Amino acid sequence: MTKNILIIPGDGIGQEVTVWGKAVLQEVATIFNHEFSFDEALMGHAAIEIYGIPLPDETLQKARCSNAILFGAIGHAKYDNDPSLKVRPEQGLLKIRKELGLYANLRPIILFNELLNASSLKPEVLRGTDILFFRELTGDVYFGDKHRSEDGNTASDLMIYHRFEIERIARKAFVAAQGRRKKLCSVDKANVLESSRLWREVVQQLAKEFPDVETKHMFVDNAAMQLVKDPKQFDVVLTANLFGDILTDEASQIAGSMGMLASASVGDGPGFFEPIHGSAHDIAGQNIANPIASILSAALMLDIDFGLKEEATLILNAVKSVLKEGYRTIDIADATSHSLKVLGTQEMGRIIVKHLRQMVPAC
Ligand code: NAD
Repeated sequence: MTKNILIIPGDGIGQEVTVWGKAVLQEVATIFNHEFSFDEALMGHAAIEIYGIPLPDETLQKARCSNAILFGAIGHAKYDNDPSLKVRPEQGLLKIRKELGLYANLRPIILFNELLNASSLKPEVLRGTDILFFRELTGDVYFGDKHRSEDGNTASDLMIYHRFEIERIARKAFVAAQGRRKKLCSVDKANVLESSRLWREVVQQLAKEFPDVETKHMFVDNAAMQLVKDPKQFDVVLTANLFGDILTDEASQIAGSMGMLASASVGDGPGFFEPIHGSAHDIAGQNIANPIASILSAALMLDIDFGLKEEATLILNAVKSVLKEGYRTIDIADATSHSLKVLGTQEMGRIIVKHLRQMVPAC
């Protein structure tokens, strides 16, 4: 198979972990005789430094011409500490999602049994959890009108949804539920928000087309509580942009760390694959970031965009086997276990690539 893959490392640990997402793709190409060609482009703070804007035309053009994009993360402390800055890294990410029509963000919460003790939640609560989040990505307060009054003392962000935006992601989520345990939980705040009432109405209507899927509606505040109380109750979770952003960060603790969760953003064109974490300035440049989320994002690319299931499973198995042998980055190292071997970003990346090679059956 021949594919063109665009790598956008971005900022902070995005640059450190994406190296390893790309490395596993290269290794898989060698093992399975695929031809993957790679190009690279700037986004976020890295692009602002050179071009003065977070998403240069050249990056967007390269993204449009690629078959898939592996992204790292954007962000820099400078912008977090000064909200008045008008040109900001996250504008680049929002724009590329909109321009590429990436309306559905899939976030699988995969729990490796080896990491049951790495979470702050009890193993008996976590065991058996398998959730697939569908977070809407091109609507909500992220894209609604923003306003600040002339005196600077009042601000608003419009939470806006159109029927078609809800319908298209809900349909994808229902289809995914049909292929899983046939349960869909739609999360909203319909007791307070008009946009959520539209959300619920659309999902209720669509549910009639999927009678084999058990559909449930939950308010977001309750969902936040249920996720840590009894995560096993969820199969597919469908939710809006803002709620999905927050709930999936919470759900990352089920998997042990933000450094373990990958995501796939899909829509009309090439897919966009990225860890759910940000640029993590607190640990950037120290060789301690966990590269597994980027590596699993590469596996999602192979599975979802290229239909290469065997290749994706090989990556998943290589990660499992490395964890089974006791290798950990610091974020997933259980302090009470003395048999674990704590590695840096590069060492963890290297050992996963090595396992990939070793796991290929002879002949
Ligand atoms: P973050 O996800 O960068 O970090 C949150 C916490 O998780 C930090 O303590 C960090 O050290 C830890 N963490 C994250 N990824 C990790 C990894 N791979 N290995 C080990 N630990 C990891 O979120 P934040 O601190 O709120 O934001 C930092 C910057 O990232 C901000 O500028 C923010 O705007 C940006 N951000 C970008 C994205 C994105 O690019 N998609 C998403 C979220 C935040």
